[in-house]
Amino acid sequence: MNRLFCKTTFFVLLIFLVFPLPSSMAKNRHSVVVDPAHGGRDKGVRLTKKFYEKDVTLAIAKLLKKELDRSKNISVLLTRSADRDVSMSDRVKMAKRKNTKLFISLHVNAGFGRSSSGFEVYFPGFKLPSTGKSASKEIPKDMVKTKYLNESVRFAKIVEKNLEKIFRRKDRGLRSAPIPVLEGLTVPAVVLEIGFATNIKDRKKLMDKAVQKSIAGALAKSIREFF
Ligand SMILES: [Zn+2]
Repeated sequence: MNRLFCKTTFFVLLIFLVFPLPSSMAKNRHSVVVDPAHGGRDKGVRLTKKFYEKDVTLAIAKLLKKELDRSKNISVLLTRSADRDVSMSDRVKMAKRKNTKLFISLHVNAGFGRSSSGFEVYFPGFKLPSTGKSASKEIPKDMVKTKYLNESVRFAKIVEKNLEKIFRRKDRGLRSAPIPVLEGLTVPAVVLEIGFATNIKDRKKLMDKAVQKSIAGALAKSIREFF
């Protein structure tokens, strides 16, 4: 091999090392932050003596990531990938990362009676400004909020359509509510309560690996549809 060839090869390699990906490719990936709620000491609602909400949310989140990691244009970041404590502020921080296009927080519901069942999708509720401050300052902020609210509702509707095949809805479904983890986010975001730990049928489903996989599949499908 001649010297010039060696030098050229070296420089070409160097360029690839410094710029590993064409920026257009990186830009085209939609970053989704999936939040398996609770974890560590915070167990969430109880399904059985050994099985808690934190276990269900983590199992589904991991399956969802595995499923979406196969798609070329979507990348998934989990707020936790093990059974550990993660503060609310750390979860919000991850959701607020610059490239985040969608935030999904996974929970399991609990009711006072045994009859409540099915899933619920919450999107951020927000109050119109009621303060005496000048309205002109508030309006642009609200326009931004409205845009993300509309996108959250659009995603919530897609999730509802796809999850209905696994959980019956029973007048549950879409709800707007002030939820701490969603406050102050400027990305489309939903909180998903997947079934009731207090309902025998729901509980069985939530602990069933095959059902967990189909829930993750329905969510992956929803995310793809959303983008
Ligand atoms: Zn919860």
